[in-house]
Amino acid sequence: MKTIKNALYGIWAPLPGTQDWGAYLLELNVRRIACVAAVVLIFQLGNLIMARFALMELPILGVGLLIALSVVYGLAAFLIPFRIVSHKKLARFFYLSFWILLFAGFIPFFVRDFRLGGSLMNVLLFFGVLIIVPAFTRLERNVLVPLFAAATLVTALLTGASTLQLVFLALLGAGGWLLSYAIKERSQTFLRGLMYEAYCDVLTGVLNRRGGLNSIRKKLDAVKDQSDKLAFYMVDIDFFKNVNDAHGHHMGDEVLVVVANTLKLLFDAPGNIICRIGGEEFLVCVPVQSREEAGEYAEKLLRKVEDQHIPTPRKEASHYLTVSVGVRVYTPENPGDSIDELSLIDDADTALYRAKDDGRNRYVIY
Ligand code: GH3
Ligand code: MG
Ligand code: MG
Repeated sequence: MKTIKNALYGIWAPLPGTQDWGAYLLELNVRRIACVAAVVLIFQLGNLIMARFALMELPILGVGLLIALSVVYGLAAFLIPFRIVSHKKLARFFYLSFWILLFAGFIPFFVRDFRLGGSLMNVLLFFGVLIIVPAFTRLERNVLVPLFAAATLVTALLTGASTLQLVFLALLGAGGWLLSYAIKERSQTFLRGLMYEAYCDVLTGVLNRRGGLNSIRKKLDAVKDQSDKLAFYMVDIDFFKNVNDAHGHHMGDEVLVVVANTLKLLFDAPGNIICRIGGEEFLVCVPVQSREEAGEYAEKLLRKVEDQHIPTPRKEASHYLTVSVGVRVYTPENPGDSIDELSLIDDADTALYRAKDDGRNRYVIY
C-alpha cells in the first residue's frame, strides 16, 4: 500500500518548497519516464501486432530494445523510492541512460525512414517526446537536444539520406531546441514564481509553514537510515505583542524581518531549513553532532538576537528584544524516536513553553 502511495506521490508529486527546486526537477525527470515508457510500449506493441505477418520487414532489433527498455525503466521509474530519486547522481544516471537507450532503440526506425525516402515520422516522434515530456535542466537540454540532433544527422549521412532530408533534420534539431526552450523555460519560470508565493513567507523571505513542514518531511525521509542527528528549534519572540502595542504593527513587522535575517545569518546553509511557522514563531532544523552542539547553537542564537539591540517596552528578560527557544534533538537510530515531524515540533514547543516559564531569553532542550 505504501509503495503504491509513494509511486502515486512520485508521479503527481506535490510542489516542493523553493529550496528544493533542483530536487523537484530531478524527481519529475525520473517519474515522468514512467509515462514516456507507457507511450513507447503501446506504440511498439501496436507495431508488433500490425506487422505480425511481416516481422522480417520490421527493424525487429529496435522493437525488442524499446519494449524491454519501456518495461524495465517504466516500472523502475514508477516504483523507485524517493531516497534513490533524491540521490542526484543515481537519478541523473537513470534518466540520462533512459534517453540515450531510447534514442538507440529508435535508430533502426530512423534508418528505415531514410531508406524509404518518404516521411521522417520516427524522428519527429522521438523529438516530439523529447521536447514535450521531460523537464530537463537547462544544461542537460543544451547538451541532449544538440547531441541527439547531431547523432541523427550522422545516421542519416551514413544511410545515404537525401539532401532534403538532411536539411529537414537540421531544421528539426534547431526548431526542437527552440520549442523546448519556449515550453520549459517559460513554464518553469512561471511555476517557480507560483511556488515562491505558495511556500515562502513574503514578509521575511524564509519558508512559510507549508514550505517548512514539506521540507522537514523530506528531510526526515532522507535521514531515516543515517546516523545524523537533527536539531529542531522552535523560536518565539518574547513579549512581541508589546512591541506591536507600543510602536505599531508596522514596526512589529520590521522586527520580524530582523529576527528572520538573524536566523538566516546563523543557519542559512544548504540542507538547513528555516521557516516562519506562525505569527512570531520560527522553526529551524539543522543537523548536529550532539545535544551539546544543539545547545551551543541555541545559545549563539539567543545572543545574536539580543545583540541586534532592538528596543523593547518590556524589560523583564533583557534591555533589548529577545527570543526564547525550545529544542528537540532527533536521533534516527534511536528505535523509540518518533519520525513524525508534527510530534517532533510538539516536543520543541513543549520545551519552548518551559523556556518561557523559566523567565524567557533562554533555551530548553526537550
Ligand atoms: P510571549 O513572550 O509569551 O511569547 O509573549 P508574546 O507577546 O510574544 O506572545 P503573544 O502570543 O501574546 O503575542 C504574539 C503577537 O504576535 C500577537 C500578534 O499581534 C503578533 N503578530 C502575529 N503575527 C504578526 C505579524 O505578522 N506582524 C506583526 N506586526 N505582529 C504579529
Ligand atoms: Mg507565540
Ligand atoms: Mg512571543
